[in-house]
Amino acid sequence: MTAHMNLFENVNRQFDGAADLLGLSQEIRELLKTPYREVTVAMPIRMDDGTLRVFRGYRVQHNGVRGPQKGGIRYHPDLDLDDVRALASLMTWQTAVVNLPFGGAMGGIQCDPSRMTQHELEMLTRRYIAKISMVLGPTRDVPSPDVNTSAQTMAWVMDEYGRKNGYQPACVTGKPLELGGIQGREAATGKGVAICTRAAWEGLLGHSLQGATVALQGFGNVGSFSAAFLHEAGARITAVADQGGAVRAPGGLDVPALRAHVRAQGGTVAGFPGGEAFDPATLWAQPCDILIPAALGGVLTKDTAPLVSARLVVEGANAPSTPEADHIFQAKGIPVLPDILANAGGVTVSYFEWVQNLQQLYSDEAEVFAKEEKILLQAFRDVQDKVKAHGCTWRTGALVLALERVKTANELRGW
Ligand code: NAD
Repeated sequence: MTAHMNLFENVNRQFDGAADLLGLSQEIRELLKTPYREVTVAMPIRMDDGTLRVFRGYRVQHNGVRGPQKGGIRYHPDLDLDDVRALASLMTWQTAVVNLPFGGAMGGIQCDPSRMTQHELEMLTRRYIAKISMVLGPTRDVPSPDVNTSAQTMAWVMDEYGRKNGYQPACVTGKPLELGGIQGREAATGKGVAICTRAAWEGLLGHSLQGATVALQGFGNVGSFSAAFLHEAGARITAVADQGGAVRAPGGLDVPALRAHVRAQGGTVAGFPGGEAFDPATLWAQPCDILIPAALGGVLTKDTAPLVSARLVVEGANAPSTPEADHIFQAKGIPVLPDILANAGGVTVSYFEWVQNLQQLYSDEAEVFAKEEKILLQAFRDVQDKVKAHGCTWRTGALVLALERVKTANELRGW
């Protein structure tokens, strides 16, 4: 997804912004930036038409000083090792920002699931897990869903891991409810985006969500649940773009109807009768109060950031803004709630799922959401303290908090 740039370089440039504020030495920077372990595997798969194809899979474990490594599994045709490194390091900083006892990892397979059958995807997932299972496990590395992977994918992960290791539901999160998944996990990231959006829009900027206008890129797991919770809170979702097209309605889209349309239409908002179609490339320039990128990385750049007129950007996606975009937003006075805070709801509820599986003690959705909110609002306040203390952006504040926590844990354990 980043042929034109390197996500890992971008994330490390953002890291350096925080490291500069803390006066970290080059030695410590190198230690904290370098992934602990990187695994690359090849998976030969007999496709349904009889041909043999070899796929590439990755698992990068970035840092585990604060606990088992935690991070998503992504299926995407453009996925490369540097993307996975970038996303793994973001998970290290994210778990530290929300103060969960986890480190950061990420993995995935370079493949195009839209051109594969369910059977092929199951075979591919099982091969991938069989090849990396020696570095996984409830106290080692616990995967979860990301772009183009679902609760079904996680069920295959659990089953394949269990073939060698026995029944260990805590080896993966984001599972179906029937297999030890947790109530609310599917909605958790979007719920967290909505919690952080409210904290910033109402608590920080002093506006009301009632009637506020929101534009989103991406209407998958994160985008659609973010939209649903913000719609429930009285905001108007005025523009949505995804891979298949884009729709807008200045008075606000009917979000439940749009979600039903996406489910029925194979995953895209295109063709939704309750809005006007527009060119998805113009999403960034759509008038709105709050802009939420919730698709892929590297989309807010020196070219697209100047088009944004929103008064708040909330990063539902991972690494959507380049360092150049950060500077532009800063110059325009648009606060950006960074990915490592704004989309931390998913890993927070994944943590509850992991605990639930270890204890075999189950919670209901209201309990899950209440605990999620408490953790995210605490993280929000912790980041806000750093922003105030250093007079920096929210991204740098969040990274300062994360670096301090990871560095302290590392020092306590010994280098
Ligand atoms: P998803 O596969 O459910 O949805 C992805 C969405 O992005 C779809 O609507 C798709 O159409 C859209 N999209 C893809 N390519 C696009 C393009 N070129 N232009 C416009 N839209 C495009 O994925 P997801 O789980 O919702 O993840 C979205 C983002 O959120 C990713 O950056 C992911 O890393 C991040 N994230 C996800 C979770 C989670 O719990 N699922 C947690 C934290 C962060």
